[in-house]
Amino acid sequence: MDEFWAGLLERFDGASVFDDDHELTGARAAIQGVLSRGASDRAEGMMPEGGYRSPLAVQFEYTNRCVMDCLFCYNDSRPSPKTSSMGREEILRIAREIADLDVLKVVLSGGEVFIDRDLLFSLVEILNDHAIRPTILTSGWFLDEALADRLARRQIQSVQVSVDGADEAAHDELRRKPGGWRRAVRALRLLDERGFYTTAGCLITERNRRTLDDYFDLCLFLGVDQVALSFCIDQGRARDHRERLEVDDSAFEDTVEMIVRKRKQYADLMRIDLSQDPGFVRILQVLWMPTNCLIRPDGSVARSCVLPIPLGNVRERSLKEIWDSEFRRLPANPSIRAFLDGMRIGTTPRLGMLRSSLGGGSGSCQPESAGAGASLV
Ligand code: SF4
Repeated sequence: MDEFWAGLLERFDGASVFDDDHELTGARAAIQGVLSRGASDRAEGMMPEGGYRSPLAVQFEYTNRCVMDCLFCYNDSRPSPKTSSMGREEILRIAREIADLDVLKVVLSGGEVFIDRDLLFSLVEILNDHAIRPTILTSGWFLDEALADRLARRQIQSVQVSVDGADEAAHDELRRKPGGWRRAVRALRLLDERGFYTTAGCLITERNRRTLDDYFDLCLFLGVDQVALSFCIDQGRARDHRERLEVDDSAFEDTVEMIVRKRKQYADLMRIDLSQDPGFVRILQVLWMPTNCLIRPDGSVARSCVLPIPLGNVRERSLKEIWDSEFRRLPANPSIRAFLDGMRIGTTPRLGMLRSSLGGGSGSCQPESAGAGASLV
């Protein structure tokens, strides 16, 4: 391990992170554990020595047009975006390219994918023709009975709808769209009635954290299969609204403890996930062999939402070329090193937890389309 990585690991001393079971564990030891597991997996032939020949999973964030205007949107999506995304034919071409790589998982996200429903269904058709069942992330705004019926005739892995807590006013205020919470709740109900695997995505902020207890009951009532919780990170519009979004240190610890408790309590009823600390994930994503990537509305390709450094653009080169030339040498990439070096790593006093939710890194990009849902890690 070179000096840069050794120095970065040194900064984790004394900090804690969640392990896969949401138990707090030493950050430095956790990273070292992952690295040695990777080495033994390779030695035993569980992972290819030179890395995967193509991504196993792709999140295709193909539009930045959205019906919402959320305070925390990591990719600055809005009804009239400031930057243009790719054209229809380009988007379809890239979907075919992804499908031809025989990836195991595809997430379609935006923006709001149902703004152009014909385009969405064309993408689903391309993927279904390759036996790929995509996951769809949505605000739920457009999902009425007719659209849910149409979707039910396609092969869909799961649908994630953003519902930020049990407080209607808080959701609509943060998403700057009156009526948004009601439509999202309706969407989850309609999807459950049609047998979809549903995920409720919730961004935890100072404004909604007190409603989380009721939120879990609401999700159970709606037949939700999985709850995906995350704290806000330092990308896009969130940077301009930190004071309204960031949960303060003492409340942060209490909130995490409550979620861990609820997760155990609801274990037999629905799955509750809390995304790992973005700073921790960023480091793992570089050190661990890449398995997935993110394609953004402008065609740029990144490791993920939390590590948004552009590594190429599918408008100029094929995804396979970008994967082969860039993803296999991530740890040496100077832009990625500079981004990680810029992370502000804080610890909370009581748990000593690593907390870089709104903490830095100089990139331009949130997990799960912040607010729109789940990202691939
Ligand atoms: S966070 Fe999601 S729902 Fe909100 S503006 Fe961005 S893409 Fe749209």
